[in-house]
Amino acid sequence: MKQLDAIVIGAGFGGLRALLELRGLGLETKVLEAGGGVGGTWYWNRYPGARSDSEAWSYCYSFSRELWNEWDWPDRLPGQSDVLAYLDHVADRMDLRKDIVLETRVTRAEYRERQADWQVETDLGDRYRCRYLVSAGGILSVPIQPAFDGLDTFEGDWYMTSRWPAGGVDVAGRRVAIVGSGATAVQVLPIVAKTAGHVTLLQRTPNYVIPARNRPLEDGEREALKAGFEEVWREVRNQVFALPIPPANRVADGLPPGEIERILERGWERGGFQFIFETFDDLLVNERSNALAAEFIRKKIRTIVVDPAVAEALCPRYPLMAKRPPLGTEYYESFNRDNVSLVDVSGSPIGGITPTGIRVADRTVDCDVIVFALGFDAGTGALSALEVTGPGGVTIRDKWREGPRTHLGIMVDGFPNLFMISGPQSPFANIPPVVENSVDWIGKAILAIREKRAVSMEPKEESVAGWAALLKQYVDATVIRHGSDVRSWFVGANVEGKPTSAQFHFGGAATYFAQLEQSMESGFDEFRFRYR
Ligand code: NAP
Repeated sequence: MKQLDAIVIGAGFGGLRALLELRGLGLETKVLEAGGGVGGTWYWNRYPGARSDSEAWSYCYSFSRELWNEWDWPDRLPGQSDVLAYLDHVADRMDLRKDIVLETRVTRAEYRERQADWQVETDLGDRYRCRYLVSAGGILSVPIQPAFDGLDTFEGDWYMTSRWPAGGVDVAGRRVAIVGSGATAVQVLPIVAKTAGHVTLLQRTPNYVIPARNRPLEDGEREALKAGFEEVWREVRNQVFALPIPPANRVADGLPPGEIERILERGWERGGFQFIFETFDDLLVNERSNALAAEFIRKKIRTIVVDPAVAEALCPRYPLMAKRPPLGTEYYESFNRDNVSLVDVSGSPIGGITPTGIRVADRTVDCDVIVFALGFDAGTGALSALEVTGPGGVTIRDKWREGPRTHLGIMVDGFPNLFMISGPQSPFANIPPVVENSVDWIGKAILAIREKRAVSMEPKEESVAGWAALLKQYVDATVIRHGSDVRSWFVGANVEGKPTSAQFHFGGAATYFAQLEQSMESGFDEFRFRYR
């Protein structure tokens, strides 16, 4: 049994930053990481085309000006290997590795009331005790397993994008079937299509795919960004999804149709989330503006995709942003290739896997390789996958059976001194700034426990109830409320049997950061402290 002050689960963006913070408080801390390296998402998701959708200069930490100055991003949108290299660099630069235990998966954590500590067990049989347990297991880290009948009879090879082999997969000349059409599949398809013999994409729900328009950064641009540190992070702090995008300062209502079209066209040319946030400020909350942008994208799909039947099948019919829109590079264009076909499984679900392919209705999609890009049990998945038990013997899985219950998306009532980074009911937004603000709050909370000579803290039940009600209001005020009709992970609707509810904070990142500030300034009065 090893005695520590704190344990952090996961060595991704959140875990690395948490280690640094806790160390700064003088706490003896270890990070337990299931993977063979640091990086979290960026360690596991090595599928072809994996790339961040956030601009590089905001997809990083802001705690150190030196770190910011010395790191050069090659592209506007950083690729998987670039983000992994960055996080590896941070681990070295901040001397974090000596406190990271790799290839060690936390399996259980139990709170012992009398000792006021967490007892943590790993798959290697190691046992630890610690006062503070920080879950940095990731927002999208528990993949949905392919549970199709007959998969074990498949004579070809199959892969999950989120567990892609580090050495890559040679698809040259082979017939590949991709199951899924979310942000992951959208990145995989165009790359795989370049070498595969044939690619069939099996789509259940189409998505609004916005052109990513990734490009290399020029030296001058990099220098200007470096000089603009304060400005970038000010912009990020104030943007609804914590992205470095200024507000459009206009809405579509009242503008002539030609002007609306021109603005949307410019957004499309700029690419990335600029299409959503630099065009009109109310796309998330005003169904009329949203419908204009959605129709604009459908027109683009019909213009790009030559076969009208394929184009129609690719056109979403729900509000833009009810599902998380992917960014794509030549995604729609791929369907004009001779070696790419689309199979719409919305009307007839995948019936199972045969030795030679995938059964859909009365036909089989023959293939040599199946790529499953089925998504994740978002938010609650990471902690629910472990046996986490509070003082009363209640597991977090039971606690969240009807949906997540947290305060600030960081703490859960009945689970003292358990802190979450990017947990359920925290904002879905550009992850690094959310992580850094959450970690800052956690550090201050631990300081408060120590200053009050308390042993633990946990949110009051009324704070948890209030947070859930507030988050529901945010969802109800936006088009995200339609997510339950289209299996959106935003509301937990993508996982069979998961109750749909406000899984994330959609009230805007700036609002969230202000709520964290307010909580700290109040001396954490929405929390209950326990004393010996
Ligand atoms: P996803 O968006 O949840 O997509 C999963 C896909 O699998 C959906 O198309 C889904 O169809 C399909 N699917 C699941 N079960 C199926 C079944 N039984 N039969 C047929 N189709 C099935 O997952 P993802 O693409 O991995 O993306 C998840 C999130 O990760 C993204 O929204 C994004 O936030 C993040 N991500 C980010 C990036 C980036 O920054 N560039 C890249 C990849 C992922 P339905 O829609 O019909 O359920």
